[in-house]
Amino acid sequence: MHVGGARTAIYNYLFAKATGGTFYLRIEDTDRKRYNEDALNDLLRDLKWLGLNWDEGPYFQSERLEIYGNAALELIEKGHAYYCFCTEERLQTLEHGYDRHCRDLPPEEAKKRIEAGEKFVIRFKTPLEGTTKFSDLLRGEIETPNKDLDDLVLLKRDKFPTYHLASVVDDHSMQTSHVLRGDEWISSTPKHVLLYNAFGWEAPLFCHLPVILAPGGGKLSKRKGAASVGDFRDLGYLSHALVNFLSLLGWSPGDDREVMSLKEMIDAFSLERIHPKAVAFDEKKLEWMNGMHIRALPDSFFADELKKLYPNCQDESKFLKVAELLKPRLKFTTELASMSKYFFEAPEKCEDEKAKAKYWTEHSIEHIDWVSKELEKIPNEDFCIKNIEAAFMKVCESNGIKLGLLAQPARLVICGVGAGPGLWEIIECIGKNECVYRMGKAKNF
Ligand code: ZN
Repeated sequence: MHVGGARTAIYNYLFAKATGGTFYLRIEDTDRKRYNEDALNDLLRDLKWLGLNWDEGPYFQSERLEIYGNAALELIEKGHAYYCFCTEERLQTLEHGYDRHCRDLPPEEAKKRIEAGEKFVIRFKTPLEGTTKFSDLLRGEIETPNKDLDDLVLLKRDKFPTYHLASVVDDHSMQTSHVLRGDEWISSTPKHVLLYNAFGWEAPLFCHLPVILAPGGGKLSKRKGAASVGDFRDLGYLSHALVNFLSLLGWSPGDDREVMSLKEMIDAFSLERIHPKAVAFDEKKLEWMNGMHIRALPDSFFADELKKLYPNCQDESKFLKVAELLKPRLKFTTELASMSKYFFEAPEKCEDEKAKAKYWTEHSIEHIDWVSKELEKIPNEDFCIKNIEAAFMKVCESNGIKLGLLAQPARLVICGVGAGPGLWEIIECIGKNECVYRMGKAKNF
């Protein structure tokens, strides 16, 4: 699911929820050449992951073929549609679209040809004169001369409807009040309005949403980096952050709020605050927003994630402590695994050659041994940040060592990496015995 489609779904969802409407899901699967079951399953998964739970559906158009077939016949009876027997070969020779070759075939002749087994499509009898008007909620009144519209196909040779016929029939029968869709459909809307008129139905209100541009301009596509909901999920973005970010690509709550919960977005949403101008996708901002949403999650969320990662650890309070320490540093939830590893498993080697080159000296093993002995002296019940810090300070002062030259090598031995939360907090969390054990293996580094 492309993020553009996701944003369209988000606006439909927010609008339905904000106005007490029904957000229903309809699968427009009538183009059998493009039908792909995996793509359908991905789409359903992505909608669920985004939290856009539908109130009704999914309705599958492929299960409603009889309804569209009858609707097409109804238009033929009313004189608004006709059978077209032109072959693909003939149509390919036409340079300026369909030439209305079959528009005036007498009904008896059409009937005979159908009975003789000739293949046909059903086309709409677009008025040759006049104009068709509709009012787009974002762009205002749009008027199209009917002579610019072709006699569009309603029912294809395989008896499947086109998007035009199926969406009009369904939007009417499913009592759709508002159609919020991408602006690539804006040129089709006059045709849809003509169809509503021909059926004698009231058309819904239309709102065509502007495209999302790539940061450097042009359409946002896979070639230019992540562009689908699945891409961002795999990168470790929270669904809430992605929904929040996408909602603001073209809409604003009317104040300076940016980080919002789904409930806050619903409460603030209105179509009047959607901007008609195309907006660019700014992944840096999405990253920032993801961090904000991570910070807003309770520590227990990350404690539960850690529990899944380290099923052998029995210490419940440790999960919460590690969650507290790492949450402020996470940009992506996917970083939790790599960032938490040393809290639960001794590092096998130094994974940070740069920090090692900078801080490790020929005296480091000796220094670590001294501080290890100081830590051991602390009674278990007093093994706290204050006393851990005092142990390091004592070794520094009595031997004239700078804290960095003691703490950084100790960190490398305990964690295997040179960066992370405060060292005293880490040592307290890992515990005295394990830290002393790791420091005893300093020569392996
Ligand atoms: Zn024809």
